[in-house]
Amino acid sequence: MESNIPTAAPEDGFSRKDFLRMTGKGLAAGAVASLVTGQSSAQTSRAAGERVPARPDEPIVLEKWKSGVDQQSGPTPTPLAPDQRVGYAVVGLGHLTLENILPAITACKRSKLVALVSGDPVKMKKVANQYSVKPENCYSYQTFDQLKNNKEVEIIYIVLPNGLHKEFVIRGAKAGKHILCEKPMANSAAECREMIAACSQAGVKLMVAYRIQYQPHNRKLRELVQQKAFGEAKLIEASNAQSSANPEHWRHKKALAGGGALPDIGLYCLNTIRFVLNQEPEEVFAYQYSTPGNPLFTEVEELVSWQMKFPNGLVANCTTDYNVHESRHYRVLCEKGWYQMDKAFAYKGQKLQTAKAEGKMELQQEIGLAETDQFGVEMDYFSDCVIRNIKPFTPGEEGLQDHLLMEAIYQSAKAGRPVRISGLLPAGYRGPEPDLQ
Ligand code: NAD
Repeated sequence: MESNIPTAAPEDGFSRKDFLRMTGKGLAAGAVASLVTGQSSAQTSRAAGERVPARPDEPIVLEKWKSGVDQQSGPTPTPLAPDQRVGYAVVGLGHLTLENILPAITACKRSKLVALVSGDPVKMKKVANQYSVKPENCYSYQTFDQLKNNKEVEIIYIVLPNGLHKEFVIRGAKAGKHILCEKPMANSAAECREMIAACSQAGVKLMVAYRIQYQPHNRKLRELVQQKAFGEAKLIEASNAQSSANPEHWRHKKALAGGGALPDIGLYCLNTIRFVLNQEPEEVFAYQYSTPGNPLFTEVEELVSWQMKFPNGLVANCTTDYNVHESRHYRVLCEKGWYQMDKAFAYKGQKLQTAKAEGKMELQQEIGLAETDQFGVEMDYFSDCVIRNIKPFTPGEEGLQDHLLMEAIYQSAKAGRPVRISGLLPAGYRGPEPDLQ
């Protein structure tokens, strides 16, 4: 139960503009806040009326001075005051947290860091000092469940090895907090189902951190494909590969990683193609390999190459590898041209190019878009979902779809034959298209 106010959608379904239209801009702040937040069991920290409306309804408009010939800036940011931002507890202080998530959250507009969870008290103390997290807001994996009593925390962000996601998502849901879970969502589709059920039962939101679905260049490419400016898409080539070196790392242990290159990085090809096409594959055919004797690949695979066939005949060829120099790109080949993304799945530096025939020429273009901090955008988006009671665009079900497909890919590689896909959820499980301003 996400809202007890019958006039608002129970969860999702209306955009910011729709919402403003529904409520009118003249409603008293308290009335708006109670309509937006409702009073769910998950939101013990924000009783109705406690928080002023989520953000100003329009960005501040500054005096125009640039001509239309140049790329335009803006809109101006619309940050919440720090005391109104949504409080995060970040769980796991490894590479992603220290190098990307914590630096990003300090620059967020709607999110703030209020708590940490780690198994290493010395490291946590240092990080807490760096980011001004109060000592009483620092938890161990054993005291994690006490987050339930911390009203400052509204969202728990799980940034642990994949094999631990299920346990901490379920414990976080039982603590009554909304959950942002890193990808891959879990080790198996069965685990995903348990996590979705636990969050649903607790009345909390669950979002999988598929940052590419909130990244401007990838969103633009999807828009172009959907508009069919170059006709129908027919073929996709996608690759996400990198090199790893430490056989003792959890990424090389089956119980903690779930698999090798496929769930860690190949997943980006799979998830981004599904996102760009807005379709699900109906059949997969895969090949898997690990160099014999290489200690990195005694438990998890080195390489997976797979094809996905879609209902309209489109075929996607995907490759992922843990033992080559890094490369992250995809290309969508259409009847009259192609779209290509270099550094497609990287944290920054996306390069979106298009090509089409024009008479005797091939016209190639690069579409320049302002870069955003992918982790900051993602956290602020989820905070907005919590504030406005909107179902996330990448909910737990999105993770489940990927796990069902990865299981079919492994099954195909093992059997050496194509596997028909069954059991996927029908379209409609996502929240509305995100409003990312
Ligand atoms: P990492 O190894 O750098 O950090 C993992 C953290 O978990 C460490 O602090 C470690 O101490 C802790 N931990 C707790 N219990 C552990 C155990 N039993 N074994 C090993 N470590 C344990 O990993 P990372 O690169 O930060 O990845 C964390 C999660 O984030 C993974 O799910 C990964 O797939 C995901 N990730 C996502 C992105 C992205 O772009 N969205 C990028 C990198 C990683």
